[in-house]
Amino acid sequence: MSDLRELYQDVILEHSKAPRNYRELQNANHKAEGFNPLCGDHFTIYLDLEGDKVQDVSFQGSGCAISKASASMMTQSVKGKSKEEVERIFERFHKLVTGEGNGDREALGKLAVFAGVSEFPVRVKCATLAWHTLQAALDGKQEKITTE
Ligand code: ZN
Repeated sequence: MSDLRELYQDVILEHSKAPRNYRELQNANHKAEGFNPLCGDHFTIYLDLEGDKVQDVSFQGSGCAISKASASMMTQSVKGKSKEEVERIFERFHKLVTGEGNGDREALGKLAVFAGVSEFPVRVKCATLAWHTLQAALDGKQEKITTE
């Protein structure tokens, strides 16, 4: 189990050092900014939403390794998905990081690496910041959101 945990940590560190989809999306039609004052994580999510489908998604900003890796892996997992599918993934992910139920790890795929976050309640907001911000972007809200 400790080996598995290390492996998970590697994935998170790797994503935080080399985040995927880390750029401003020029043709974004939705955008939201999220801030987690507890840790200082601060991200902007750019979204190209075509009808109900996430055509493209990217992010920029700064934060701790967990928040950055979460944003990076989130962009990978929601690209090409419908709003409803994104909601479902976030629901599972939220259950996983808060330790409610098992969060259906198989369905989460790579996102299951965040299971360890449930042992550190203060980190839950780091792991979910990008997702809350994505939701705000999907809802078309332009204002800043905060986890507080
Ligand atoms: Zn953080």
